[in-house]
Amino acid sequence: MSEDAAERQSRWRRMVHRLERDYRCLPPAEKARIAELSAPLVRLQQSLDRLFSKADGARICAACRGACCAKGHNHACLPNLLAYLQQQQAPPQPDFSQTCPWLGPQGCVHEAGRRPYNCISFLCDKLEERLAAADVAEFYRLDRALRTCYQAFVARYPGGGMTGLLLQSARLDGRSLLFFHSATTDDRAQEPV
Ligand code: SF4
Ligand code: SF4
Repeated sequence: MSEDAAERQSRWRRMVHRLERDYRCLPPAEKARIAELSAPLVRLQQSLDRLFSKADGARICAACRGACCAKGHNHACLPNLLAYLQQQQAPPQPDFSQTCPWLGPQGCVHEAGRRPYNCISFLCDKLEERLAAADVAEFYRLDRALRTCYQAFVARYPGGGMTGLLLQSARLDGRSLLFFHSATTDDRAQEPV
C-alpha cells in the first residue's frame, strides 16, 4: 500500500472510531431523530436499486467490469455510516489501495440502502437506454426525493455534507461530525462537556 493510501486508511480508522464514540454519546432522542431521517433515505435508495435491477444492472455492470467504480472515490457520507451504527454494526473496512476503497471482489461492499449518494443515483447511458421512459422519469423523481433526505442531514449535523467523509472531517479540523461545538439556538446536539 502506498504511503498516501496508508495515511488515508489511518485517517479513516480514526474518523470512524470518533464517530462511533460520538454516536454512543448521543441522547436517545437524537438517535431516534437519526433513525427517522434515515428510514426514508434507505427506502429511496432501495427503490433506486430496484430500477437498477430492472435495467439488468448487475449483468451489464459485470460485463462493463465496474468501469465507473474503478474511477470512483471515497464517496461515503455521514448517513451511510450512521446506517451501520444504528444497527450496532461496524462499517466495512475500506481498502484505500483500490481506486474506490469500497470496491470488493464481488463489486460494492455496501448494500444498496447504505451505498453513497453519488453511486446509488448514477444511471449511465447503457443502463438508462434499457429502461422505459416512465422508469427513467421515476428514477430521477426518486433521486430528487433522495437529495432532500441527504439535505436533512446537511442541515442537522456538522459532518452531514454530501462530499466524502475524509474530506469533511479534514474541513472540520478535529471537530465532531455529529455535535455542534458552540451553543446553537435550536435543538441540535451539543458537544458533551
Ligand atoms: S453503471 Fe454503467 S459505467 Fe458503471 S459499471 Fe455499470 S454499466 Fe459500467
Ligand atoms: S462506493 Fe461502491 S458503488 Fe460507489 S464507487 Fe465505490 S464500489 Fe462503486
